[in-house]
Amino acid sequence: VIIGVARESAPGERRVALTPETAKKLVAAGAVVHAQRGLGALARFPDQAYADAGAELVDGDVLSGADVVLCVQSPPAAAIATMKQGAVLVGALHPQADEARAAAIRERGVVAFPLERLPRTTRAQAMDILSSQAGMAGYKAVLIAAQLAPRFFPMLTTAAGTIRPSKVLVVGAGVAGLQAVATARRLGAQVECFDVRPETREQIESLGGKFLDLGVSAAGEGGYARPLTDEERALQQQRLAEHLKGIDAIVSTAAVPGRPAPKIISAAMVDGMKPGSVIVDLAAETGGNCELTRRGETFETGNGVVVAGPVDLASMGALHASEMFARNLYNFVSLLLREDGLAFDWDDELLAKTVWPERAAAPA
Ligand code: NAD
Repeated sequence: VIIGVARESAPGERRVALTPETAKKLVAAGAVVHAQRGLGALARFPDQAYADAGAELVDGDVLSGADVVLCVQSPPAAAIATMKQGAVLVGALHPQADEARAAAIRERGVVAFPLERLPRTTRAQAMDILSSQAGMAGYKAVLIAAQLAPRFFPMLTTAAGTIRPSKVLVVGAGVAGLQAVATARRLGAQVECFDVRPETREQIESLGGKFLDLGVSAAGEGGYARPLTDEERALQQQRLAEHLKGIDAIVSTAAVPGRPAPKIISAAMVDGMKPGSVIVDLAAETGGNCELTRRGETFETGNGVVVAGPVDLASMGALHASEMFARNLYNFVSLLLREDGLAFDWDDELLAKTVWPERAAAPA
């Protein structure tokens, strides 16, 4: 089996789908690994490290000869169109986001595994790119908030007087939110967090945060949140508006699967915040949790609140984010790799539920 990995093509993408560590493991599993020269440069993995791991460095195209292509973000349609008939493509593919790409996958009969579709079962955790990348995003978001803030995060007792710790509010306690709570705590801030899933209270508290109870509970299917009703939303907003007046920095991470980000922080709420407060909206990619968020931009409101909507947070920590992403991919590909080639066990839900286009259900 030839596994090909090319340099990422998306603007701003610094991560890489193959690290020297996973290259070595794939080679040990009997695969031939083709790594395009310069593959890991932006994530700080030198070519020599891939060569030492047993990968073959390739100067030009690596896609057309590969049985399995690994990527972070999907290659463009034109590149997919050069893939072998029936080859496998694994990564954060989001095939529906681009017509031409979807068409190219169909045309080439590419067996695509967009890993964002992976069911989030216990067995899938080792392959869960959403979780592994969200951790880095939550971490970086807090560092950005600390950087933008005109205050210290920790409490200081100095000869020039005492500095009170910053009050940080984390909105949403998924993987990114919990990492944000942990990181802000480590920087010495007073941290509060809320989520609509009641089980998050214990998780927030175990990280040293305080659960902010806004009186809204909206647990949905599969351990996820459901969208709020109008009444629930009004209640959440009313209680939050008052509370935000005392907050120095917000890191917002709330999401509902398959939907635009819930709008939680209104323009009026931002108006009520202190000058010098900071909002880092991790949900910027899917529309933002704050009404004012501009995707990919940082700006200051009329009343001196800085609002940031960064979109490439995982890429900012490309080395560790890639290590985790590449391990996720390796663990998934291990489901397919056999000594004598590839095998697809369509009874395995991790394959059957992830593959795209969806396979027709087997006749009863
Ligand atoms: P996510 O990124 O999808 O969402 C972030 C958080 O926003 C969630 O905690 C959600 O409850 C919260 N949220 C949604 N609407 C909100 C609102 N109006 N107000 C406040 N908060 C709101 O989350 P995630 O990190 O992907 O994790 C979400 C769920 O998936 C959790 O139950 C987690 O345990 C589960 N999960 C399971 C696995 C696994 O078992 N393999 C892996 C990862 C996550």
